[in-house]
Amino acid sequence: MKTIITGDRPTGRLHLGHYFGSIQNRVKLQYDYDTYILIADVQALTDNFEHPEKVRDSVHELVLDYLAAGIDPKKAHIYIQSYIPEVAELTVYFSNLVTVSRLYRNPTTKHEVGQKSELFGEDGESITYGFLGYPVSQAADITALDGDLVPVGEDQVPHIEQTREIVRKFNAIYGETFKEPEAVLSPNPRIKGLDGNDKMGKSLGNAIYLADSEEEVSKKVMSAVTDPSKIKKDDPANPDICMVYYYHKLLSNPNLDTVCKECRAGSRGCVACKKELIGVLLEFLKPIQEKRKYYEEHPEEVEKILKEGTAAARARTKEVMKRVRKNMKLDYFDEQ
Ligand code: ATP
Ligand code: MG
Repeated sequence: MKTIITGDRPTGRLHLGHYFGSIQNRVKLQYDYDTYILIADVQALTDNFEHPEKVRDSVHELVLDYLAAGIDPKKAHIYIQSYIPEVAELTVYFSNLVTVSRLYRNPTTKHEVGQKSELFGEDGESITYGFLGYPVSQAADITALDGDLVPVGEDQVPHIEQTREIVRKFNAIYGETFKEPEAVLSPNPRIKGLDGNDKMGKSLGNAIYLADSEEEVSKKVMSAVTDPSKIKKDDPANPDICMVYYYHKLLSNPNLDTVCKECRAGSRGCVACKKELIGVLLEFLKPIQEKRKYYEEHPEEVEKILKEGTAAARARTKEVMKRVRKNMKLDYFDEQ
């Protein structure tokens, strides 16, 4: 059985972009692959090092969201990055195999540094060693578990390429040790925002969270962007440029054909259409939120899931690290 490594940085709750962009696919894949889901708290600290409490709280929220959204702890191992010290060790070994200029050239890192000017300076002149190097630690996350496949959004593709380069170099110097993991692009690599933004995202302020209340969902949907040429309730409109229609489609509204026809004919007002979407969305979120509530009320079960997932990941990593240390000639004697 092939191994999948995937995960998220604990920096907040999960939203619909995460769900349709990655979680839904993971839920499907967990039945066919040995699945490890990483809560990347060490990586989250690279740009949140001043806010450990945010990372800590988000770990809790993330686990609840995973379980609520259908990650099955009997199938997938959910584990915490900082509890696998071998990954930090492997990151150090890998750091010799990557040039600083290569890390600066990574397009995703460049883009992220540009978005975080308050932390890293206007021109990225204050970028930290840790942030610049996070694709190296990501390579260690994947290879330390002998990962075959890494399901990702499109922004992560450069990092997987970086991992593959490190693997090739490592194997060339120290002998065949790792396999080259492959990125598997999610079927929906970018979910748009209801505000018409190209992407739904936490920091864009346009996210609908899996745990949002009925009031929050209603408020967000009512402010969604529709065809701007439609002024009056019975003007015909173009659903292809309407975010409300986009979400009707994403959520597989069984009434989709009617929504489309009525919109084009001008026989459907935007307010009624938004109200229908709120209903579809609440129906979709209901089982997710019921499951979340169950786990919120059973923290001991959640802790057990995390402990077991982390133990499984660590046991596997230790085996891989024996191979690494042997090939790097660091196997002086058996550990006590
Ligand atoms: P931020 O705005 O702080 O960057 P975010 O909402 O983009 O937050 P991340 O934690 O950066 O959330 O997202 C983790 C991963 O989830 C991303 O690497 C991406 O692959 C996926 N993802 C996030 N938002 C979307 C989206 N709108 N569509 C598809 N995938 C997404
Ligand atoms: Mg992001």
